[in-house]
Amino acid sequence: MIGTAKKPFDEILAALKGFQKIGMVGCDGCAKVCLTGGSDEVAALAQELKTQGKEIVFEASPERTCNMAKAKPVLDPLKDKIQASDALLVLGCGGAVQIARYVTETLGLTLPVKTGLNSVGHMDTTVPGQIAIEQCQECGDCILNDTGGICPVTKCAKGLLNGPCGGSEDGKCEVDPARDCAWVLIYNRMVALGEVDNLKKFVGAKDYSKAAKPRTLYIKEGRVA
Ligand code: SF4
Ligand code: SF4
Repeated sequence: MIGTAKKPFDEILAALKGFQKIGMVGCDGCAKVCLTGGSDEVAALAQELKTQGKEIVFEASPERTCNMAKAKPVLDPLKDKIQASDALLVLGCGGAVQIARYVTETLGLTLPVKTGLNSVGHMDTTVPGQIAIEQCQECGDCILNDTGGICPVTKCAKGLLNGPCGGSEDGKCEVDPARDCAWVLIYNRMVALGEVDNLKKFVGAKDYSKAAKPRTLYIKEGRVA
């Protein structure tokens, strides 16, 4: 899922300065899991905004607001309400905000689409409702097959590809001792899998051109460019 964190209320208010009638769009997908943008969080923020004198025109939370196929069928019937809004406030990831903006454009509407969240990475839900840890930086050239399914690009603070830096102590990372050293995890996993010899293979410099932005995935061809 895409991890999200709430922006400070003052920052949201600043983004909505000058806009009185607000249409609120949440996301019952990742943002709901992060307790940042599901229908409950949309309702709670709507109440807060009302105390600041804002008028809430509508609240809607598509199942996956980042997914056009899920968002558009929910937002299209709200065209009149979107049109009556001075601005939309989206509680979703950056993709959700941009899909919401795109939907307004397909409806022939031009209005500001603001966000109430910060997107913070591709995460798991290690402890549901409490902790999500970043797992993948979408580098475009996945090496999990060679690292026991643990990503050093993301989980090693230095992004090292050929083993540890030497600073690890008691299995913890020297950059942040609260975290496990990714390479200790990888080594232990490879031992358990009986594949530790695979770690002797030199991994060349990563081709970060595959992570060059913005990327387009041509779904039918399976091609990225
Ligand atoms: S190697 Fe790249 S694609 Fe694979 S998990 Fe790590 S960041 Fe993601
Ligand atoms: S201690 Fe481990 S996780 Fe931390 S930077 Fe060094 S190799 Fe990477």
